[in-house]
Amino acid sequence: MSDYVKELMAMVKAKNPAESEFHQAVQEVAESLALVFERHPEYRSSKILERIIEPERVIMFRVPWVDSKGDVHVNRGFRIEMNSAIGPYKGGLRFHPSVNLGILKFLAFEQVFKNSLTTLPMGGGKGGSDFDPKGKSDVDVMRFCQAFMSELQRHIGPDTDVPAGDIGVGGREIGFMFGTYKKLRNEFTGVLTGKGLNWGGSLIRPEATGYGAVYFAAEMLGTRKQTLEGKKCLVSGSGNVAQYTIEKINQLGGKAVTLSDSNGYIYDEAGINAEKLAFVMELKNVRRGRIKEYTDKYKTAVYTQLTGKEDANPLWDHKADCAFPSATQNEINRKDAANLLKNGIYVVSEGANMPTTIEGVNQFLDAKILYGPGKAANAGGVATSGLEMSQNSMRMSWSREEVDNKLHNIMKSIHKTCVTVADRFGTPGNYVNGANIGGFLKVADAMMDQGVV
Ligand code: NDP
Repeated sequence: MSDYVKELMAMVKAKNPAESEFHQAVQEVAESLALVFERHPEYRSSKILERIIEPERVIMFRVPWVDSKGDVHVNRGFRIEMNSAIGPYKGGLRFHPSVNLGILKFLAFEQVFKNSLTTLPMGGGKGGSDFDPKGKSDVDVMRFCQAFMSELQRHIGPDTDVPAGDIGVGGREIGFMFGTYKKLRNEFTGVLTGKGLNWGGSLIRPEATGYGAVYFAAEMLGTRKQTLEGKKCLVSGSGNVAQYTIEKINQLGGKAVTLSDSNGYIYDEAGINAEKLAFVMELKNVRRGRIKEYTDKYKTAVYTQLTGKEDANPLWDHKADCAFPSATQNEINRKDAANLLKNGIYVVSEGANMPTTIEGVNQFLDAKILYGPGKAANAGGVATSGLEMSQNSMRMSWSREEVDNKLHNIMKSIHKTCVTVADRFGTPGNYVNGANIGGFLKVADAMMDQGVV
């Protein structure tokens, strides 16, 4: 670690105590940017990175609500408006009991670079609540969403800040929040993305993050003149990103063999084909059940229960070619990364945000495998949200093929930026440097142009 990064990290930790995920995200980016500051001292003297790590605005609020039994609950709501140098704040809302300020700040920080990479004019933000939708009735989820939006609505808008979904926030929650926004503000605008198709949503938005992560993997494989055909793939999670990652893996001729949730994972050597995936989508999106039920229906599969306290996740300890972590942050630790490499995995495309710890990332980089970090590999979701915003502004809708083509081209362009920038800064094949530096330069130049604000 250079002296500059050491000093910066000491300052970040002193100013933002107990925000370990935020420290981790900043450190990874700062290490890449040290290469830029050697050539461009003007960014350093203008304190561009110091400004980027300080959110433009942090909104924290009380969310009191009454459930259908009449019990009163108090949750905490957040919106981090991180950086608006290249466009309105844009980034998802996460509803999960683990949500806190540090997690949302790491996500908002990553979002700034990711959104810049998409080539679309979007700044970075993130928000959410420690509310847990798991096991709640539709009515209770609606009551919470209404209470949450009754405060958030005064801080967002189609030209200011445009939230979307993330963990625990899918089409159902976006619908309840959009309804509340529309009622309170008396306006029908593109203030949220991930909307239903009948009321302003875009085709391909639900599929976009998963499809994008697989398109990115295919581009990485292309640099070695290979394709996904016949590749065995490990996928974690079983939510939005995992489901559409598997759909695209199947379409491109690969074979996905794992899925997980916070209670455990399934391994299906025969492969999770289209019929089995349809079962998972119904299980997770309609019945809201647990992944364990997969083995009740498909006897070829084996379920392993996990407590979350294991020192390594056995999901990552199977022989395969590719891994698509699609659940949550830090789900691949030092030991998991070593297991993946030992099992012959040479493509990692991150659907989740920061799923690999710094020790894990360093092992992937040292082994020179094709490692696509989340801020590049999962940018297809926010890119398609950007396309939803454009369609809303033009009051028109593009066809499935049009949106999918645009998504595919954006993923190719992000891949090209990563490769070109990594080369330019003397670290060929290092997608971490490519994504961090490529995302940074556009935002940094915009901030230089706009003065110290
Ligand atoms: P979902 O809520 O649809 O699914 C999340 C999945 O991950 C569930 O299977 C969930 O299991 C599992 N999971 C969540 N937290 C944990 C945990 N602490 N330990 C173990 N398993 C966990 O979310 P998404 O699919 O939308 O998001 C998954 C990842 O992708 C996140 O990192 C998100 O930030 C990232 N991402 C999402 C985008 C999007 O467009 N949705 C865009 C870019 C990135 P359980 O049900 O048991 O909690």
